[in-house]
Amino acid sequence: ALDALDSRAAELRSQGVHSVLATFTDLLGTPKGKLVPLEGLADAVAVGAGFAGPSIVGTGLPRMGARSEYFGRVLPETLRPLPFMPGVAHAVCDGFADGEPLDTDPRGALKRQVARLRERGWTLWVGIEPEFFLLKRGADGRWCVADAQDTLAKPSYDLRAIGRNLGFLDDMRQALTALGFELQQMDHEDAIGQYEINYRHDDALAAADRYQLFKLTAQAVADRHGSVFSTMPKPLAGAPGSGLHFHLSLTDDGGVPQMADGAGALGLSETGWRFAAGLLQHADALAALCAPTVNSYKRLAASRSASGTTWSPVWKAIGENNRTCLLRAVAGRLEWRLPDPSCNVYLALAATLAAGLDGIDQGLVAPKPCKDDLYERHARGEPLPDRLPRDLHDALLALEGDAVLRTALGEPLVEQYLTLKRGEWAEYHAQVSDWELERYANG
Ligand code: GLU
Ligand code: MG
Ligand code: MG
Repeated sequence: ALDALDSRAAELRSQGVHSVLATFTDLLGTPKGKLVPLEGLADAVAVGAGFAGPSIVGTGLPRMGARSEYFGRVLPETLRPLPFMPGVAHAVCDGFADGEPLDTDPRGALKRQVARLRERGWTLWVGIEPEFFLLKRGADGRWCVADAQDTLAKPSYDLRAIGRNLGFLDDMRQALTALGFELQQMDHEDAIGQYEINYRHDDALAAADRYQLFKLTAQAVADRHGSVFSTMPKPLAGAPGSGLHFHLSLTDDGGVPQMADGAGALGLSETGWRFAAGLLQHADALAALCAPTVNSYKRLAASRSASGTTWSPVWKAIGENNRTCLLRAVAGRLEWRLPDPSCNVYLALAATLAAGLDGIDQGLVAPKPCKDDLYERHARGEPLPDRLPRDLHDALLALEGDAVLRTALGEPLVEQYLTLKRGEWAEYHAQVSDWELERYANG
């Protein structure tokens, strides 16, 4: 293994690489890390790059003692030269403390769920669909859409915006392609300043690692173009927000699809239906991880947007090619529409997987396929399926009470997560907004 590592290091050096960016993901989903000179690679693989544990959000590590040091152990198979940082190769790390895998490491939580699948001989394939805004701070100091000319009332698939922003989009294409992404398409989405970039699916762990690299790349490329790559789910009131849909499918070791069945309802097998039922059953608690910010719940609302609907899910339903439902069955896959880009993708996927497996193990039954446009039903005041939590506070309560997800993610991680997120909620709730002043001050 050492020989292999030496030759990989030599290969990187011949490509002009002098340093490794050893990265990990904190509990909130932010990529973090440090630069390690290539000479230190062997050590970073064997022992790990060292960090002050309590300085990393959500580790729960103490200020002193053997467990105060966080070690990010570089995974050599993830080394890739970074096109936007010449001379630097990106690497993913697993989190360790005192020689043991860290129980609050989000990547570790996903690995544990993937191992449960492996025991059954299964692989979960995940296609992640990033939607995002390009924002900037305007002259008045307030956040606005970066492209001042992006003002159409119905901007979906706008070609003029693609022309104006081709510098950003083409730099993304080049960088992502150099990093081994198989790009599929890029478009202007339904809100001004909003884009989506699609690339090929991967197994669950690789898909999560890849999304973190996508985020890092988009931040760097946007920065060069004077804008901010924003993962905020709903930056513009009255306009659609950003989702981070997961397309999910399962295969066995022979590559045989487990969720799909051409003859089954919605093209899904019994396993597919049970997996879906698990997601719907645990949806409230999953919201705390898939839609984890105060702002997420402004996206998951039934309000219409100026350009029509927001296409964001509100009600716990499954339908064939029905984008008004929380789950969409499409070509023998499940599209899970709950996640938004403010999530920690490792935690969102780990919890989603655990909920699906619970559906399979308990033989849960999903509701009948929804054939209606639920936005229309809502507009007409007709009965609707159960809805998602209305705010982060309710979602956190649901997570606290969900024994299946708590066990899957592990108590230490869930405790850290609830503490962090309850703090975020309390901070939000302590604000007095402009809306409140306008509404109540002169009452
Ligand atoms: N932006 C929508 C959401 O918040 C999704 C639109 C789409 O289906 O592409 O989930
Ligand atoms: Mg989209
Ligand atoms: Mg989608």
